[in-house]
Amino acid sequence: MAKPGKCEHTFKVIKSDTTLILWNCNMCHSGPHWWIYECAKCKLKACKTCMAKA
Ligand SMILES: [Zn+2]
Ligand SMILES: [Zn+2]
Repeated sequence: MAKPGKCEHTFKVIKSDTTLILWNCNMCHSGPHWWIYECAKCKLKACKTCMAKA
């Protein structure tokens, strides 16, 4: 199990094909976004601003 705060995030952009699936940023709770950055390892979802400082 990855320990919280120990992940070296590897973000990649994920985009929704449908308005039915939207995401909120897990860090600042902005949103909903139709695209977001998701860490491939811990599945953290972050907006562009949070991704830059995560
Ligand atoms: Zn991560
Ligand atoms: Zn954010």
